[in-house]
Amino acid sequence: MNDIKDLTPKELEQVLLSWKQESFHARQIFSWIYKKGVTDFDAMSDLPSDLRARLKEGFYILSLNLIKRIESHDGTEKSLFKLKDDNLIEAVIIPAEKRITGCISTQVGCKFACRFCASGKFGFKRNLTSSEMIEEVLYLKNNSQGRKLTHLVFMGIGEPLDNYDFVIKAIRIINSPHTFNIGARRITISTSGVIPAIKKLSGEGLQIELSVSLHAADDKTRSKLMPINKIYPVKDLIAACREYIRKTNRQITFEYVLIKDINSGLQDALKLSKILKVPNCKVNLIPCNAIKELKVQPPEDTEVSSFRDYLLKSDINVTLRRPRGQDIEAACGQLRLRYAKK
Ligand code: SAH
Repeated sequence: MNDIKDLTPKELEQVLLSWKQESFHARQIFSWIYKKGVTDFDAMSDLPSDLRARLKEGFYILSLNLIKRIESHDGTEKSLFKLKDDNLIEAVIIPAEKRITGCISTQVGCKFACRFCASGKFGFKRNLTSSEMIEEVLYLKNNSQGRKLTHLVFMGIGEPLDNYDFVIKAIRIINSPHTFNIGARRITISTSGVIPAIKKLSGEGLQIELSVSLHAADDKTRSKLMPINKIYPVKDLIAACREYIRKTNRQITFEYVLIKDINSGLQDALKLSKILKVPNCKVNLIPCNAIKELKVQPPEDTEVSSFRDYLLKSDINVTLRRPRGQDIEAACGQLRLRYAKK
């Protein structure tokens, strides 16, 4: 049995032709699944019955099992899913006034072991397939309280650029007018800084948003926080980002999670302002979600404001993002961490 969501519209047409069926049924099937949220081939009433039977033999539509769903008082909603092989992943809906953002996982666990992040706590298990990622989106779309899912961020568990081919395939499917029709400019990939993949991404011709998790401006601090820095150090990463911006004409957002006593002092802001003399970039400051197990805490509000003000004075385009869903442990991997511990 194969997951039908693994197929692009073109690929499904090919399958139909090989079954001696009309290729236009592919469009109908896509519409049932992605527009109408139908999860049973039998309900696809405008398909010939022999085609429905054939589809049922060869494909399935759903693979995720919802285990737990928690809503924050700020409206953020987090879902924990069990995959077919019993592994756990998370996806989040983040509603705001003018947009509804879905946040999805790309891997089971994570190899990158960032010190402040719960996702890598149990190491890496496996990549998600494109259809598993698409199903996360499908689930979020069907459960967004009647509102349209407008934006998508690949910021859940895992490192998207470490699962490059499946992530790009998923984006191309999600982007298609036959599926969710979420514009590339409304899709963000967040990376811990896998330089060869950033280079490759710049040649894809995708108008997506790229976020780079920087979190420190010097190698000593960054290597302590993010082991990947020992392979791809700050200077090389910034050079790769410059090259990406030049080649794609797109902006890069640098994510900077503020952690008390680690990277939130004025000397850190000074270092950051020096390395970010990069055209067409901005900085997103995020006071970290406190995670007891990892001994990380956000700085005091005054320190956060001073950090932001320093960057503003240095002419850096900076926004301060308040973490959402703190009461439901919405930062990457937190719910999975809690659940798997039980
Ligand atoms: N691996 C990718 C994407 C997943 S993490 C990356 O590193 O970008 C998505 C974002 O959540 C990253 O910026 C990550 O640094 C951040 N994050 C992880 N743990 C956090 C925490 N405890 N508080 C706030 N942000 C966190």
